[in-house]
Amino acid sequence: MSRCKGCDAVLLSDEIALHRKLFGLGEQRYLCLDCQAAYLNTTRQRLEQVILQYHRRGNCVLFTKWE
Ligand SMILES: [Zn+2]
Repeated sequence: MSRCKGCDAVLLSDEIALHRKLFGLGEQRYLCLDCQAAYLNTTRQRLEQVILQYHRRGNCVLFTKWE
C-alpha cells in the first residue's frame, strides 16, 4: 500500500495515476490529492476534475477504467 510522502495518507490509485501524469513516471513516492493541490497551488476540486477528464477520455492507461 502506498502512502503520501507529504502527509502519510493512504493513496488511491487515481491519486497515484494523477501524480504520475503531473510529476512524471520517475517518482517512486507520491503525494495525495490534497498535497498535490497544495504543491501545485491549486484546489483539490480542480485536480478531481482533471482526473474525471482522463477517465472520460478513457485513453490513458494510468487511469483504471470505471465501469
Ligand atoms: Zn498528502
